[in-house]
Amino acid sequence: MKIYRSDRPGFSGGGKGKSARKNPDSAKKYVNEAHEWMDKNILHGKNPDLYGFLILTEHSIPAEEIWDQLKLWSEQYNEFGENRTRICHRIIDKIIEYQLDIDRQEGYRPPYCRRGCSNCCFQPVACTDEEAALIYSYCIENSIDIDFEKLNRQQKYMEFDSSGNFTGRTEWDGQPDEDRSCIFLNMDDRSCRIWEVRPFVCRVHLAEETDEYCRSNNGIPDTRAKGIHYPECSYIMSAIFTIHNDSIGKMMGRLLSDQKNKASDSNTIKDYQQH
Ligand code: SF4
Ligand code: SF4
Repeated sequence: MKIYRSDRPGFSGGGKGKSARKNPDSAKKYVNEAHEWMDKNILHGKNPDLYGFLILTEHSIPAEEIWDQLKLWSEQYNEFGENRTRICHRIIDKIIEYQLDIDRQEGYRPPYCRRGCSNCCFQPVACTDEEAALIYSYCIENSIDIDFEKLNRQQKYMEFDSSGNFTGRTEWDGQPDEDRSCIFLNMDDRSCRIWEVRPFVCRVHLAEETDEYCRSNNGIPDTRAKGIHYPECSYIMSAIFTIHNDSIGKMMGRLLSDQKNKASDSNTIKDYQQH
């Protein structure tokens, strides 16, 4: 059996596939025990959401190895408990730091990425519901405004299916210039206003040599862009995105709006209880 690959155009750092394809027959033909475990505990007949290296690079990694890694990181993620998003953000950062160090020792050039370099921040951004909750509370705690009006305008340029998942089709570039950037990009110095809690997709987005090709074309990455993808990050994110299959396709904009609605519902309940 093949591991399914995303068929969705990329957004913010690669192609997160909302794997709409269902293949119940093959889902039961287990490749190995890890695959069976994933199907019973995480997938429930759905396909995994593979990310980064696993869908963007030609590789010959056997399916068994991929299932083993998905199981390992799914178990780890679930064991981390309520702080799992922050813990995995840190793990991803550490892996990148470690890998870049090895690359440096082996003579590879460091990535072009630096503070103020932001062409990659002009496209739809995906995150999990738990990342959206983290970002929302971080913004409240640090008095960072969230421009919901801009988020709403941006969503009108994206196509969502009947389940509210982004289809990958977007007229993003048709928006007025001031609306094309991520709501968290500080336009004065082009820095990220939520750097500490930025989503996984932003953490792993690394480019070689230049930022010239980092702007996507209506959400589709420029084929001239040379991204740097580390397999371990791709395994971790594939496991997490598979676990958050129900929310990741809603994208950061919709998930933040959900957070706002939840907060206002809970305030209404509190007001009601006080009267
Ligand atoms: S991905 Fe591209 S635009 Fe983004 S920080 Fe790196 S080089 Fe700059
Ligand atoms: S969250 Fe930050 S790093 Fe990510 S797209 Fe927005 S501004 Fe850029």
